[in-house]
Amino acid sequence: MAVPKRKVSPHRRGNRRSHDSLKVEAHHECSNCGELKRPHNLCPHCGYYNGREVIAPEGL
Ligand SMILES: [Zn+2]
Repeated sequence: MAVPKRKVSPHRRGNRRSHDSLKVEAHHECSNCGELKRPHNLCPHCGYYNGREVIAPEGL
């Protein structure tokens, strides 16, 4: 089995992980209720998508 010849130094490990950070999730205001929602997804707050009610809002 192939084995690394040297231990990876903390600096080199950090350099490798410099691209690993997660991006902030995309979000936008709902046109119906103004809550933040993900684009191209129906609003989890009011159940609206593209100007009409698709599902009943949760908890009502
Ligand atoms: Zn909404």
